[in-house]
Amino acid sequence: MTGELSGYDAVAEARSVRNVLDIHWSRICSRLQAEVGEVEYRTWLKQISIGPVDGDEITLNLPTRFLRDWVRTQYGDRLSALWNAELPSIRRVELQVGRPDPVVEPEGASGDEAGSADVAPVAGTVDERVAEARSELSRHDLAAPLDPRFTFDTFVVGKPNEFAYACARRVAERPSSPGFNPLFLYGGVGLGKTHLMHAIGSELTRGGKVSVAYMSAEKFMYRFIAAIRSQSTMEFKEQLRSVDVLMIDDLQFLIGKDNTQEEFFHTFNALVDAGRQIVVSADKSPSDLSGLEDRLRTRLGCGMVADIHATTFELRISILESKAAASGVPVPAKVLEFLAHKITSNVRELEGALNRLIAHANLFGRPVTLEATQDVLHDILKAHDRRVTIEEIQRKVAEHWNIRLTDMSSARRARAVARPRQVAMYLAKQLTSRSLPEIGRKFGNRDHTTVMHAVARVTELMERDSAFAEDVELLRRMLES
Ligand code: ADP
Ligand code: MG
Repeated sequence: MTGELSGYDAVAEARSVRNVLDIHWSRICSRLQAEVGEVEYRTWLKQISIGPVDGDEITLNLPTRFLRDWVRTQYGDRLSALWNAELPSIRRVELQVGRPDPVVEPEGASGDEAGSADVAPVAGTVDERVAEARSELSRHDLAAPLDPRFTFDTFVVGKPNEFAYACARRVAERPSSPGFNPLFLYGGVGLGKTHLMHAIGSELTRGGKVSVAYMSAEKFMYRFIAAIRSQSTMEFKEQLRSVDVLMIDDLQFLIGKDNTQEEFFHTFNALVDAGRQIVVSADKSPSDLSGLEDRLRTRLGCGMVADIHATTFELRISILESKAAASGVPVPAKVLEFLAHKITSNVRELEGALNRLIAHANLFGRPVTLEATQDVLHDILKAHDRRVTIEEIQRKVAEHWNIRLTDMSSARRARAVARPRQVAMYLAKQLTSRSLPEIGRKFGNRDHTTVMHAVARVTELMERDSAFAEDVELLRRMLES
């Protein structure tokens, strides 16, 4: 470091450092703009002003806490990476609420802390911002485009999703029927919620008479904020309230976003009262979405609530068969079975694995074999190697039905003991890569045919008895997490 600088030199030095930073920053901005698009860039990133560098860290300022949090979660990593690429000495980006650095911009900005509301006022000359935001809004359609690949035809139906599928079809055929409005679809990640929503949308817009608006809850919030900023909330409301079908995906995103929730609630009511259809998806059922306002939760549960369960082995096989057939690349049944056994988390990952196999086969002109599969998917398979042990399974199942752990290997055949034991065998088959004889040995040296029988019996029972199926699914989820 240099010695003590006079006041004047300090300012001059700060200025020249700042000039250099400004050049880097403007380059980063152009890249960001190209990457995220004009609207996102203007709404979020353009509000950033650069602050001082301290060691390997640069501070970036945003006018409100809301903006800061948003930029941090959405773009934090990207900003660090871009700064690091520009200036390797910078390794970290600190985002904070604050004004631009006063040394360089003595006029400052009127950025005041806006508290925790999700819709916060933004500093700057109001007229400019309003004009800017308005022209952005008008340039962009209200809704996100529908993915033409997500249709009812390409959706493979099986036990875990047949109810949700039937409801979706029904809404697509006769929107706004009593009892089906709203349609609330829920289930874990990658199980087909978005696919079904797009399928409804595509089906309904095919005739050209029905107007459908599909958007993620996140997008809904973003549009809403942009409307507030451009003082065009009336237009926003009118636009939304003029559609025949409104679909909001991943509603759980609105948890904690009280203002946006409130707006959604009013839109929701206005549409339903006007006989329009609403379709909503979330990762949990309305009653389990804690953090959502009670009145909204109540209304969401008023129509049809349909859940998509975790996939079964059978469904995974059907999906793989259908996607393999569509690709035109022959994939041996053994490979499909292998994948369906190994990748149980969700359809998206299953699809990703198959796509990679197919791309590989096309690229190298080699047939898909089990060996090639293990090789090509090495990393994915490793990540999915479930480390749950048979002992763990036995313990959890015994706890669940309140039996003694020793009964997992005892010879007792009373139903109260035999049934949980069968469930544990079934889960051992599903969740570990152990063979039937290996599993049998862990259950008091039973024969592999006993395990086979247990798997078949539990599968059959799950189909007949939904309460039992739920128990087993719950155990599976607990063991998998
Ligand atoms: P979610 O919205 O529930 O997270 P998606 O609808 O995005 O899940 O589904 C993830 C991927 O899996 C998509 O590519 C989708 O087409 C596919 N997918 C999910 N379920 C099925 C199914 N039953 N049949 C065919 N493809 C499916
Ligand atoms: Mg989705």
